[in-house]
Amino acid sequence: MSDVTDEPPDDGPSDRTAEPFTYNGGRVDPGESANIRYGISETYLGDPVRIPVTVVNGERPGPTVFLSAAAHGDELNGIEVVREVAHDWDHSELHGTLICLPVMNVPGFLAQERYLPIYDRDLNRSFPGREGSTSARRMAYQIFTNFIEPCDLGIDFHTSTRGRTNMLHVRANMEEPTVGRLAKAFSSNVIIAGEGPSGTLRREATLAGIPTITVEMGEAHRFQRRLIDRALTGVASVFAEFGCHLDSSVHWPGWRTIIDDDNEKTWIRADAGGIVDMKRGRGEFVREGETICTITNPFKEEDDIVTVEAPFTGLIVGVLENPVVYPGNPLCHLVGLSPDTRTALERERTTASSRSELRSAGPDDYGA
Ligand SMILES: [Zn+2]
Repeated sequence: MSDVTDEPPDDGPSDRTAEPFTYNGGRVDPGESANIRYGISETYLGDPVRIPVTVVNGERPGPTVFLSAAAHGDELNGIEVVREVAHDWDHSELHGTLICLPVMNVPGFLAQERYLPIYDRDLNRSFPGREGSTSARRMAYQIFTNFIEPCDLGIDFHTSTRGRTNMLHVRANMEEPTVGRLAKAFSSNVIIAGEGPSGTLRREATLAGIPTITVEMGEAHRFQRRLIDRALTGVASVFAEFGCHLDSSVHWPGWRTIIDDDNEKTWIRADAGGIVDMKRGRGEFVREGETICTITNPFKEEDDIVTVEAPFTGLIVGVLENPVVYPGNPLCHLVGLSPDTRTALERERTTASSRSELRSAGPDDYGA
């Protein structure tokens, strides 16, 4: 971006001035930031259930962007992404306002569980929420009306469900132009197109006029530093694309594939119960007929080994981590690729010095 001006390139008339951010009972003026503990419910003891919210209001006008995580209480990677953007980045030149929601499902987070422990409800099927409804919908309503509705766009961070892992990818309704722009700006290699299930934050926010994407990254219950760094690159790229940070630039991931209804995709499920020896990892490219895993019984009896092969050539987007299955349990999420993408990917696989998503999301990034 060579022509840097005081106005963001994509945000309305140039005479706009920065405005205060207001929510129920509070206000954050331009040039100020605030750490808020906002009550969205009450515990069995009658104490408030309060979610942490950081509002960073730039001195200059620009879009209002939310970054949210832990709608599922045990999905931790996104928490660190949101915290680092909120507290470690320099926002002195910020155009617009950031609404950072690192832990939305506080009861689930405290219990280290995916769902709200109260009746096992899924907060991420409860948006936009409703007053006078279930506990989950009331919480969703408080979050949505105060901190989502005032926004112009948003990114909701998730990981795979416990026991599985995902390569970093974006899920987005690519039929909505601004959502598509946001999804591409995040600069993941893989975008899975679709509007998402009813009640998810990204679907309901998008329907309410706030273009929103989901980022899936890694597994539950841990911080995976390389995935977090990769996601931070995506956030910086989005901030460049939408004029929040004029000094950052839009990142190109090297190759990109958008998986839509025309692509083959399937969750490969176990047809036998047993112990899984997974041969392939997330983000790996497999050819039709190649072995993905074997399933054996406790005695490793030769005639009882089940070999699971790739039904078509594609990319392993999600894969089992906890190596035990009942028949019907998912083993891996395989998506087909266009010939162009296959060529690009095979070229990248053979380039030892590649700095690709595949490597940065490789199976060596645990710990830290
Ligand atoms: Zn999730």
